Amino acid sequence: MSARAAVCAHPTALATCLRAAAVAQPREACGLLLGRTAGRCGTVTQAVELANRAASDERFELDAREHLATELDAARRGLSVLGTWHSHANGPATPSALDEHGACAYPLAWIVGLEHGEALVRAYDTRERPWRELALRMEPA
Ligand SMILES: [Zn+2]
Repeated sequence: MSARAAVCAHPTALATCLRAAAVAQPREACGLLLGRTAGRCGTVTQAVELANRAASDERFELDAREHLATELDAARRGLSVLGTWHSHANGPATPSALDEHGACAYPLAWIVGLEHGEALVRAYDTRERPWRELALRMEPA
């Protein structure tokens, strides 16, 4: 049995996604994951919430202007955009058909599932179809 590929994260990044997902209900919250890639395990140091421009409650579309501003700000601070995150306001933390078949600009995606009163974050490698789940390891900030 081989060890599952992993992504590391600061707990504050996870907390940002969970909080934003709860506040956005019944809409989906969404944003970008910033951090560093070092060796095989990238580290997400910060999650940024962006406005969701999608017309439907069941999908997300990052605000283009905020997206660009966040990328520039990350670069200034020596960080990279590692991926996107979004919530499923009333569903599991697994990718929908729309998620997997949409265009992915980044190799990493986090999904916050809000289901049965519980919130859960799962990480995925979006370079494969279906998306491959990654172990999410907490790392002190
Ligand atoms: Zn989704």
